[in-house]
Amino acid sequence: MDRRSFITLSAIGGAGLLAGSCTTVANKESDKKTGAVLKLSSQEGVAPGDSLTEKLDFLEEHGYTGIEPHGGNLAQRVEEFEKALQNRDIRVSAVVAGFQGFLIAKDPAVRQQATDSIKIILEAAGALRSEGLIVVPAFNHQESLPHVEAREMLVDQLQELGAFAAQHNTRILLEPLNRREAWFLRLLADAAAIAKDTESEGVGVMGDFWHMTWEETSDLGAIISAGDYLHHMHIASRKNRKMPGEDEGDNYAEGFKGLKHIGYQKFISLECGSEGDRRETIPAAAKLIREQWKKA
Ligand code: MG
Repeated sequence: MDRRSFITLSAIGGAGLLAGSCTTVANKESDKKTGAVLKLSSQEGVAPGDSLTEKLDFLEEHGYTGIEPHGGNLAQRVEEFEKALQNRDIRVSAVVAGFQGFLIAKDPAVRQQATDSIKIILEAAGALRSEGLIVVPAFNHQESLPHVEAREMLVDQLQELGAFAAQHNTRILLEPLNRREAWFLRLLADAAAIAKDTESEGVGVMGDFWHMTWEETSDLGAIISAGDYLHHMHIASRKNRKMPGEDEGDNYAEGFKGLKHIGYQKFISLECGSEGDRRETIPAAAKLIREQWKKA
């Protein structure tokens, strides 16, 4: 353990002692600590196989219990997924993007396009019991409102979309990206602060270890900051966004410590390429993740 990790963990220990003076908080913390569960998922496009059934067979065989489809045409695929998932120990973890427009667009018509198309995917995501629909408020190349105005607009829209999502038993999941892709939202703590401002149970956040490599000062701190707002994780090799383990020194232990600390029971999902044969690298990634989770 390096000095920085030691200081961070000592600070958490100190916070635990302070919380001890309040029984409710202390009990909650201790329940949570024992409650964390590792659940592996993969994006549909990452898993090998010519059909959804083949992909599910492969993932299930290697202990993955979640699959993450793209939102693009999901509304037309609900039945296909329901049938394919019957009698399996695997479910839809989250749904990734696939909507049109974007939420903090300068052009009101583009914002409307985003809310309308997001609602269609949320309905499908809810029908498939997904943790949520992953949404990036804007990419750098998209013409957006100035940041202050954009944040206010986003909170307003998320209140509406969050209520809609909650009606369908799912959520909007804000995803922070790295600065090369999205200056507007880069940090888990900031995403969680936006979710907090919406006061909506239908709004949460997710973290992506690959983006976090470039933006977060501490995986542990970022995940603890996101806390109960965190409902999904993406994982890839830390530098080149390949399969976990394909970059030298791939390490997720500090993040896993954070996930254990918050009692995380949601999915960690592969969003990555692979240099090797996926039929070998996906099981190898599961092994590496399990080993590091155990040690964290
Ligand atoms: Mg991601």
